[in-house]
Amino acid sequence: MQFRPVKGMNDILPGDIERWQRLESVFRSTVELHGYSEVRTPILEALELFVRSTGETSEIVEKQMFELERSGERLALRPEGTPGSARAFIGGSVHAREPVTRWYYIGPMFRAENPQRGRYRQFHQAGCEVYGDAGPIADAEMIDMLVGLLRALGVSSFDVRVNSLGGPQSRARYRNVLQDYLRPHANELSEHAQKRLLDNPLRILDSKNPRDIEAVKGAPSILEVLEPEDLAHFQGLRAALDALGTPYTIDPGLVRGLDYYTRTLFEFTSSAGKLGSQNALLGGGRYDGMLAELGGPQLPAIGYAMGLERMLLAMDDSALPQVQRCFVAPVGERAAHQGLVLARELRAREITVDLDGRGGSLRSLLRRADARGARFCLVIGDSELERGVVQVKDLRAHTQIELAPSAVASHIAVALTQDEAAG
Ligand code: ATP
Ligand code: MG
Repeated sequence: MQFRPVKGMNDILPGDIERWQRLESVFRSTVELHGYSEVRTPILEALELFVRSTGETSEIVEKQMFELERSGERLALRPEGTPGSARAFIGGSVHAREPVTRWYYIGPMFRAENPQRGRYRQFHQAGCEVYGDAGPIADAEMIDMLVGLLRALGVSSFDVRVNSLGGPQSRARYRNVLQDYLRPHANELSEHAQKRLLDNPLRILDSKNPRDIEAVKGAPSILEVLEPEDLAHFQGLRAALDALGTPYTIDPGLVRGLDYYTRTLFEFTSSAGKLGSQNALLGGGRYDGMLAELGGPQLPAIGYAMGLERMLLAMDDSALPQVQRCFVAPVGERAAHQGLVLARELRAREITVDLDGRGGSLRSLLRRADARGARFCLVIGDSELERGVVQVKDLRAHTQIELAPSAVASHIAVALTQDEAAG
């Protein structure tokens, strides 16, 4: 019997992991430059946390949760990062120590979806949360940071869409307007949307069902019913994005599937076409009511989550740096001891080394070095030991020299630095 991974969950093996690591490291350095610090929270949380924050009628809580029960506790694998982060922020009374908190996270999330390209049951998100700043300057700064991040990662064509959902009053007003508009069209809606018409009509705007998409086409825009302060906030966001020269379009139909959003909402989609309908790279927005709703302080917050699998599908790899490695191939026990010492010296200079002490003919050693993509192969056999040298083969330039063991590490370090300088 052979075991396979669970449906919709994937292994990430060496060979693929390099692209992940590059994405993660550019993400980390970008957000850290913007003042964010990493938070790591558990993957299992109380089920109720997601019901209270993500929302009982959200698509995630309604149909995508991986739930489990243990000793009477109802738990869930986290479907997104925001609720756990908010719980940790509240539980640690972090707001009492700092006026504004900027956190980021990166890790696996779980949703029981039908797996397809760009949609999995275990997937990964990298996201940021800002607690304690009502924006809209903070909102614009976050959106602009993300535009810079995508450009740095070589995501060439993407669209930035923004909208405002207003505060509770605007939203309640819009809910009625939308219900009034959709009620006469109720029988054109999907069965699911007909239910949502009563409890969460905004969700219908987010539906992927063609019938619903058709029915909402002429619906009034939420931007038309925003309260004055909500409208001023949205105009502040636009003015800041304009001042930055950040590209964006306004999409009044953008609502997104989570129930907790207020005011600013945004989504970045890939326009490259290769992601099909899984083209949402990241989404985010303001959730000024959630912390209080979870029993925390009355503080505004904004955040986003980026899907790493989708980013990898959209990223251009020409910039992926190649690791320059050394293959150390001693033959025999005495040579192996010298190889061990050499490998340690090279690694102390931050040079990646594969040590292969299995011995063999020169030809087979070189073949192994080649299979590893090594730049240098260091050969130490009986003849080298006798003469007190190491054979240094440059597998790219197809040259070789013999050096005293003590001169090898510095020689290779210099050669690699020169490569780097030459680009
Ligand atoms: P979609 O409409 O595509 O289902 P979503 O609105 O459910 O996306 P969010 O909850 O906002 O997505 O999550 C933010 C990002 O996480 C998405 O833009 C996407 O890049 C990624 N994402 C969400 N669900 C999945 C999944 N099942 N597999 C892979 N990536 C996902
Ligand atoms: Mg979804």
